[in-house]
Amino acid sequence: MAKTAIITGGGSGLGQSTALRLAQEGINIAVVDISEKGGNETVEKVKALGPDAIFIRADVSKAQEVKNYVDKTVEHFGSIDYFFNNAGISGSGKQFLDTDIEEIEQIVGINMLGALYGLRYVAEVMVKNGGGSIVNTASSAGVIGQETVVTYSATKHGIVGMTKSLVAEYAKDGLRVNAVAPGPTETPMVKAYFDANPKMKQSAEEGIPQKRLGTADEVAELVAFLLTSKAQYINGDVIRIDGGFTSTK
Ligand code: NAD
Repeated sequence: MAKTAIITGGGSGLGQSTALRLAQEGINIAVVDISEKGGNETVEKVKALGPDAIFIRADVSKAQEVKNYVDKTVEHFGSIDYFFNNAGISGSGKQFLDTDIEEIEQIVGINMLGALYGLRYVAEVMVKNGGGSIVNTASSAGVIGQETVVTYSATKHGIVGMTKSLVAEYAKDGLRVNAVAPGPTETPMVKAYFDANPKMKQSAEEGIPQKRLGTADEVAELVAFLLTSKAQYINGDVIRIDGGFTSTK
């Protein structure tokens, strides 16, 4: 029987590339996003490759909407084998003391609470069904400290913490949970951030040993490897994919 994956933030960037990469392996996809346009676009692209796909609109910072996307997926596909817990936003790029409280609440709400709610409801289904595999999206900012991303960095270090601790509790129940920590990767999110902060783009590329940004397809390849059975004994790990960026810090 075909496997099923939920992908949050599936309407763009890393989420969309991963949906298409998994679809190439015949995996059905529940695309979750706040953007209807992006979500539906991914659904069409997945279906063109063969597998079934549905779009479920949700704001991941709202627990009820998270529960709804989990319920709808089980209703439609019968189970959840894989979960790419990926939806996230960056931030304004301001220094921390210039950041307003609304921005802090928004980033924590989506990146941190949204990821925790997803784990809470998806892992419940997986454990009940004998296991499953999860990849959470951290970031270089979840591994090292950097300027102008204090709140974002707090949420991404949080992703690393939830990844490790979930394994401590539920690996025995068949759950594998890993995180990817991409460096700056060419997606719409990063383009918007660098358009607002042009000097940051140049310095980002200069600071990467491979002297270029990553691509969404490179990250999708890693996520697909971690999610599927090829990575059976990798658990609780945080895999950096950043052209050497964090290794030089
Ligand atoms: P993106 O903006 O291209 O895609 C993010 C998707 O998440 C969008 O479709 C957006 O509509 C959706 N989204 C935003 N808020 C949401 C919400 N409240 N509920 C549901 N969906 C929501 O960005 P991306 O670069 O693909 O980012 C994906 C993840 O990767 C994020 O967690 C981000 O922090 C992380 N990340 C990105 C980079 C990078 O350089 N691109 C590096 C490290 C980590």
